[in-house]
Amino acid sequence: MNRTRREFIRTALERGLVVIGGTAFAALSCKDIFTDDGLKTHTGKRWGMAVDLLKCMKKESCVDCIAACHLGHNVPDIKEVKHAITWIWKDEFERVLPNVHDEYSPPAARHAGTILLCNHCANPPCVRVCPARATWKREDGIVVIDQHRCIGCRYCMAACPYGSRSFNWSDPRKFLAKERITPAYPTRTKGTVEKCEFCVERVDRGQGLLCVGACKEKALLFGDLNDPKSEVRAAMTGRTALRRKSELGTGPAVYYLL
Ligand code: SF4
Ligand code: SF4
Repeated sequence: MNRTRREFIRTALERGLVVIGGTAFAALSCKDIFTDDGLKTHTGKRWGMAVDLLKCMKKESCVDCIAACHLGHNVPDIKEVKHAITWIWKDEFERVLPNVHDEYSPPAARHAGTILLCNHCANPPCVRVCPARATWKREDGIVVIDQHRCIGCRYCMAACPYGSRSFNWSDPRKFLAKERITPAYPTRTKGTVEKCEFCVERVDRGQGLLCVGACKEKALLFGDLNDPKSEVRAAMTGRTALRRKSELGTGPAVYYLL
């Protein structure tokens, strides 16, 4: 979608109107459309991830999962922090799960880094606020974005309590060297929002996630949370499984194992 059209639609939506074929209709409330507890689907699948912190935090400088994801998805490498695009990133554990720490936690554990990504929430606030219905939760729980429908209003970014979405303030293609482009995956344009989509293009072909495959420590596990025999559920057995800000009722599908 070009910039002029996107701006036009955004203005129309902000005025509560949707114009289709020259006729103006009152904009539908996304709340009316996206109601789903997200815990069960007709296929019964609910994709999710477990991050084994004991393995991940051992490798302080490792960014293998991030590099594989960003390369495979044409994520531009923008150094300016405010404009950076991140699908997976690292932060100190005390900021990832602040409730787990107290003043007696060993500094080594507090400052060790682990990964963050979209939580593919069962009850995603980002989806509820999108006026263009450009982002939605699939029946298998994966939260996706249609780049062609995104009007760049950034409501979803304001609604996400995890900072999981990035905005293309400028043309991301300018930051992708030709030899660094993965032709099989689309590039994006200025004025749209993007984020991790749990490698939906691969999952739908029965392939694993790029980040999971890149982790030499086998610290990342992906699978069907509804299947008690899945690898991801087996990994949780006997471990403390924590989710970020679960008190908000978002229902994250990313678990951190201690
Ligand atoms: S983590 Fe943020 S972007 Fe991802 S589904 Fe949840 S609210 Fe939406
Ligand atoms: S910026 Fe976010 S809320 Fe706005 S149209 Fe795009 S996906 Fe929807």
